[in-house]
Amino acid sequence: MSQQDIYTMQDPTTEFYHDKFAKQPQTPPGIQSKMQPIPDCGEKTYKGSNKLTGRKALVTGGDSGIGRAAAIAYAKEGADVAINYLPEEQSDAEEVAEVIKSLGRKAILIPGDLSEEAFNKKLVEEARTGLGGLDILALVAGKQQHVEDILKLSTEQIRKTFEINVFSLFWTIKAALPHLPKGSTIITTSSNQNYLPDGFLLDYASTKAAIIAFSRALAKQIAHKGIRVNIVAPGPIWTPLQICGGQPQDVICDFGVTTPIGRAGQPVELSSLYVFLASQESSYITAEVFGVTGGMHCG
Ligand code: NAD
Ligand code: MG
Repeated sequence: MSQQDIYTMQDPTTEFYHDKFAKQPQTPPGIQSKMQPIPDCGEKTYKGSNKLTGRKALVTGGDSGIGRAAAIAYAKEGADVAINYLPEEQSDAEEVAEVIKSLGRKAILIPGDLSEEAFNKKLVEEARTGLGGLDILALVAGKQQHVEDILKLSTEQIRKTFEINVFSLFWTIKAALPHLPKGSTIITTSSNQNYLPDGFLLDYASTKAAIIAFSRALAKQIAHKGIRVNIVAPGPIWTPLQICGGQPQDVICDFGVTTPIGRAGQPVELSSLYVFLASQESSYITAEVFGVTGGMHCG
């Protein structure tokens, strides 16, 4: 992974890794540190500029990929951060905690399964207590498992995908809302699969469409409380989700090459958007969807 200055003007088609990827199956949820190349989540590349000083963020899926990039950027911008992930991902989560603590910010690690309603309440409670409040919810965790044939798509998978990707948004936000001060921000994570669904992602693509409707409706419902809700819709980003069955292993080698930019995105390329939407700079923006897709535009 290149560790160049991402703030210098340069050709985006050759910025970051743009060669073929090796097939590299892992069992979900996967460990980012075992990936080749290791995704760039801004550990060395992202620079903060005090956009979130004193803020308190909960990031789900914060151990790896896009959630890790958001968590690291939030800490670099001056926020204290709690991250949620699955227990199997402890080693990735500890790396993130190390980066956050090295910046002098608080890092709270809260492993647990978002498909269990009771855990969502516990998660919010622990994050709130550990951080001494909460004013940013970046809900990034997600499940994606490709299945070619609807006849082979189990009810268990459909249910889990909806519980993790959609139900957990209801559960976490219900638990957090009574405690969020005015100015708080909520960011959910959809996908360009909402607009351009692959035939092998029926359940996943459906949840990503549901996330947009949910987030827009919620934005309208709670704007009067001074709380904004926006949606990030990534295109193909190099993360564990994709090599752990999110895509058929055969397409991993050329992951991202069919985008106009011609390569997969790196998680750090979403960092500044998650920061912008969390920060006061986006004060008049709510109920909006933002694509980061390499040109596979969202709608
Ligand atoms: P990732 O594998 O790094 O992150 C997904 C995270 O979801 C995991 O780290 C895991 O901690 C969490 N998770 C999964 N099941 C969970 C459960 N039951 N309980 C708690 N946490 C659970 O991959 P990523 O690509 O960074 O994914 C982040 C988000 O981005 C997801 O919502 C995904 O749908 C979305 N997205 C990714 C891409 C892409 O190409 N990578 C494209 C569009 C959307
Ligand atoms: Mg992970």
